[in-house]
Amino acid sequence: MQTKTADSFDVVIVGGGMVGSALACALALEGFSIALVESREPAGNWPRDELDLRVSALTRASQHILHNLGVWERMCGMRVSPYREMHVWDAGGSGSIHFDCAEIGEPDLGHIVENRVTQLALWERLGSLPKVRRLCPAAVSAIDLQRSRPAATLEDGGVVQADLLVAADGARSALRGMAGIVTQGWAYGQHAVVANVRPEKSHRETAWQRFMSSGPLAFLPIDDGRCSIVWSTSPQHAKELLALDEAAFCRDLGLASEHVLGTILETGPRAQFPLRLRHAKNYVARGLALVGDAAHTVHPLAGQGVNLGFLDAAALADTLVDAREAGRQLGDLNTLRRYERTRKGANLGMLAAMDGFKRLFGNDITPLRLVRNLGLNLTDAATPIKHLITRRALGTLGELPRLARHSE
Ligand SMILES: Cc1cc2nc3c(=O)[nH]c(=O)nc-3n(C[C@H](O)[C@H](O)[C@H](O)COP(=O)(O)OP(=O)(O)OC[C@H]3O[C@@H](n4cnc5c(N)ncnc54)[C@H](O)[C@@H]3O)c2cc1C
Repeated sequence: MQTKTADSFDVVIVGGGMVGSALACALALEGFSIALVESREPAGNWPRDELDLRVSALTRASQHILHNLGVWERMCGMRVSPYREMHVWDAGGSGSIHFDCAEIGEPDLGHIVENRVTQLALWERLGSLPKVRRLCPAAVSAIDLQRSRPAATLEDGGVVQADLLVAADGARSALRGMAGIVTQGWAYGQHAVVANVRPEKSHRETAWQRFMSSGPLAFLPIDDGRCSIVWSTSPQHAKELLALDEAAFCRDLGLASEHVLGTILETGPRAQFPLRLRHAKNYVARGLALVGDAAHTVHPLAGQGVNLGFLDAAALADTLVDAREAGRQLGDLNTLRRYERTRKGANLGMLAAMDGFKRLFGNDITPLRLVRNLGLNLTDAATPIKHLITRRALGTLGELPRLARHSE
């Protein structure tokens, strides 16, 4: 294939999912010139009452980032569903814990948002920013990090060159592989079955999660009374759940949730996702940075994946703005290591916590079951600890990147 002349940018981002698009917005708003390479145009129009299968629980920190990027209002116009309480309980005993936003003086604990809502709002925003070129549909076939300025070759033979390439191309990141960055991790031995269901009782704007030894089952409240469910279970059971007719699936779901929301009246289509813990050994190389699922994938039980990704994007934006101000090269390894240091420890901590949770509740040994039930009940009674956990779940504890801080 003939090579064309390279187009030149400050940063080329490969992958225009939620994280890559957020990063592109953040950098363009800071005046950097950006090329965003994405293989699929995001969904545009859908009927108002149609609910996407892929939803995410977005933290307050993510809400601040999206607000500061100028897309939160637009998302609210499509649909965001606040949840104000969270109820978590153990199927293997009497342990339970309850979180309420009122206890910490917050209006809610976060929002359940369809991924395509976030995606579309960011994509539209990018279209309004003069310093962004969206290359879509397009995919990268090769990268060259050895040149003085890194370059990416597109499948149509085009070449884009920049001071920095960013891999935001998801869990099976091709760019990560091309750069020779290895990942560590393992399959959880669970698949997540997702569906949108209508329960008999009101969900009361509460996120419900029941821990079973086979995996957690979550009901995430949607503002029209439906719930988006994430049912993590063995691959064989997931296959069986997908094969059931609607009535049988609703019956099994009602039983698995101990009918906490009554019977399940109806369900939409179902899908399953294999679950895997994955963590890139390095987040950066000279001329390259990884963000979002390209750097880490985590069990969805605490709904943290894209929230961590948004914090990666915000932290990388801080690093690049600071580097520019200090006259340092954007792709310089010492510059990029600042970003890696900021995010790697935080992400590893969350990955380890979620893995620990999954193992703790995936075990039916009696002493362990008793201890974890006691632990849940004690934590529920210990107000300061509970408030700390709630603030951590909101993502508002600790040193935050600039974009994740509250602004009017
Ligand atoms: C069942 C389930 C429930 C979840 N629930 C939550 C939740 O409640 N809260 C939460 O925070 N997270 C949740 N997550 C995780 C969340 O969905 C992911 O962390 C998030 O989607 C990652 O976003 P990303 O932009 O990094 O990657 P992706 O969404 O994978 O986006 C990658 C993009 O790159 C593009 N691409 C890939 N390769 C190329 C290429 N070679 N060239 C050009 N473009 C390319 C793709 O088309 C895609 O648009 C959940 C995950 C699962 C499986």
